[in-house]
Amino acid sequence: MTQKTLPSLTPTGTCWCGYARKVGTGSFFAPGHDKVAEAALLAVEYGSSVAQLLRGHGYGPGHSVSARAVSEGVWLTCTACDYVGAPASVANHTKKAHGAVIGDQAQGADR
Ligand SMILES: [Zn+2]
Ligand SMILES: [Zn+2]
Repeated sequence: MTQKTLPSLTPTGTCWCGYARKVGTGSFFAPGHDKVAEAALLAVEYGSSVAQLLRGHGYGPGHSVSARAVSEGVWLTCTACDYVGAPASVANHTKKAHGAVIGDQAQGADR
């Protein structure tokens, strides 16, 4: 299966949460309003249930959405354990969980 192609969107100068607030050029949302809009969508379409959201897209216990993200190449798997996430998230996890293997500057500091 291939990743679906998303349409390219153009910021309109007003916040996409729907409150017609002016935002800076190149932005879709006023700060934090992307999360508000996301929560509202979840509430309206899926009763605020992420389980319902996953089910609505054909995912669930037998069909892992995170495994799909990895197989599509948009997420990565940690090289040291089975943690998966967005590239920035995996980099952060690697630093925290596996003691800064990348760019180790703390070596010998706690002796
Ligand atoms: Zn807004
Ligand atoms: Zn890991």
